[in-house]
Amino acid sequence: MIVENLHQIESNIKATLNRVGRNESEVTLIAVSKTKPVSYIEEAIRGGALHFGENKVQELCDKYDCLPHNIKWHLIGHLQRNKVKYIIDKVNLIHSIDSLRLAQEVSRQASIKNIVVDILIQINVADESTKFGIDLDNAERLIREIARLSNINIIGLMTIAPYTENSEDNRIYFRNLYKLFVDIKHKNIDNVSMDVLSMGMSGDYEVAIEEGATMVRVGTGIFGDRIYLNKESVE
Ligand SMILES: *Cc1c(COP(=O)(O)O)cnc(C)c1O
Repeated sequence: MIVENLHQIESNIKATLNRVGRNESEVTLIAVSKTKPVSYIEEAIRGGALHFGENKVQELCDKYDCLPHNIKWHLIGHLQRNKVKYIIDKVNLIHSIDSLRLAQEVSRQASIKNIVVDILIQINVADESTKFGIDLDNAERLIREIARLSNINIIGLMTIAPYTENSEDNRIYFRNLYKLFVDIKHKNIDNVSMDVLSMGMSGDYEVAIEEGATMVRVGTGIFGDRIYLNKESVE
């Protein structure tokens, strides 16, 4: 089922891009494998998946050790400062930077390892108290502060839109984030490129693509429902 789901999502992504007149290669699909076993990831790899998203440091490290190292890992969940050191040289992209203190630790660990790390700034588009991320109004200030740190490139923005039954409800949030994305891009800030706009999940990735997403993060749509053993693991 995983390979069929994957190919269905890939074809939906292409159809959506065609519909809005965008190039078929403009969106990267991240298969969100959190809570799912390594065997599921191996199956997705056989189906051609290359980018995988995890939201927990420990889980990412465990899977990293068991799987081929050409996989591109994305840390998409909240990151605690004391765990940065474990993933800094394993991930292709950190999507969830939302404070200067966290970025400072990423910068510090990256300099220790003598690498440059690509990051996205997580934006709380709907200003939900339950979500991480900087709000739209303060994003530019934070981006300018983080841009001064060494060994970090800010390459775009990420958001987790509100949970909704109707994906159209999120169109306004995606549109607002795209506006900020273009805005920041035009400011030509050093070390800030705005190439990646990571928005859209299983329920709303098509709307997100219509509104300009360049990365979508799909879990359930590929791997099926997640079973959580305790409530704390959600998100
Ligand atoms: C779990 C998760 C996803 C995937 O959600 P689905 O609805 O299963 O597609 C995407 N992004 C983040 C940050 C997540 O934590």
